[in-house]
Amino acid sequence: MSKVALVTGGSRGIGRAISLALAGRGYTVAVNYRSRSGPADEVVESIGASGGSAAAFAADVSRADDVTRLFSEVEESFGRPTILVNNAGTTDDSLLLRMEEAAWDRLIEINLKSVYLCSKAALRGMLRAKWGRIVSIASVAGLVGNPGQTNYAASKAGVVAFSRSLSKEVGSRGITVNAVAPGFIRTDLTSGMPDQVMEQVRSTTSLRRIGRPEEIASAVAFLVSDGASYITGQVLVVDGGLAL
Ligand code: NAP
Repeated sequence: MSKVALVTGGSRGIGRAISLALAGRGYTVAVNYRSRSGPADEVVESIGASGGSAAAFAADVSRADDVTRLFSEVEESFGRPTILVNNAGTTDDSLLLRMEEAAWDRLIEINLKSVYLCSKAALRGMLRAKWGRIVSIASVAGLVGNPGQTNYAASKAGVVAFSRSLSKEVGSRGITVNAVAPGFIRTDLTSGMPDQVMEQVRSTTSLRRIGRPEEIASAVAFLVSDGASYITGQVLVVDGGLAL
């Protein structure tokens, strides 16, 4: 029986590419999304059309009740996931002086609390299986900082520290916990960036181009594979050389 992978925010952008990459490697994929069912259904159809197995699950992963329901629905459909990709996330950029407390709280809930909630919910199945893979999508902003993104950078630095700490808690149980830190990737999240900003990023990236979601997905696929069995507590930077 194939291993079950849950990809949060697996319907669009980087998450979509991760869902497709994992399905292409034979995993059964639970594609989570928050509210837009169209893209989630499209991913599931596309996986089915290439002979894979997947289903879509709506849940706001920043909410504890939703996460509990999500895991029981996934278990009912496929069994307990032993691969968790914490990918769901968003931005809400502004300079600190203009950043409202409610906006700060919400961003931290979506990007960081979700990682706590989903990882905790996933651990039971992984402990039982004596095997598990948790990969969380951080960001180079969480490593080097970015003006206008104190909230986002703090949440992603939190994801890194969370992953390192959890890797030490569960390593003896055959569970690895890692993070992938993308640079600038072309998705809906970055589509609103002014051309000037895109050009600046491009010109300061060693590889002189913006990244593709598939280039993050292949790093995630590696980290969940047997080839990465001795890697835990690490941050794999996939940024074309942007943060060097
Ligand atoms: P995106 O294109 O905006 O897609 C976001 C996905 O997450 C969608 O599937 C969305 O579902 C889902 N989502 C958002 N909030 C959610 C919630 N509370 N509960 C469940 N699902 C939720 O974003 P992306 O650019 O692919 O980014 C994916 C991850 O990579 C994020 O963690 C982001 O911070 C990180 N990242 C991105 C970049 C980049 O340059 N794009 C760089 C570094 C890190 P709906 O469609 O239903 O809303």
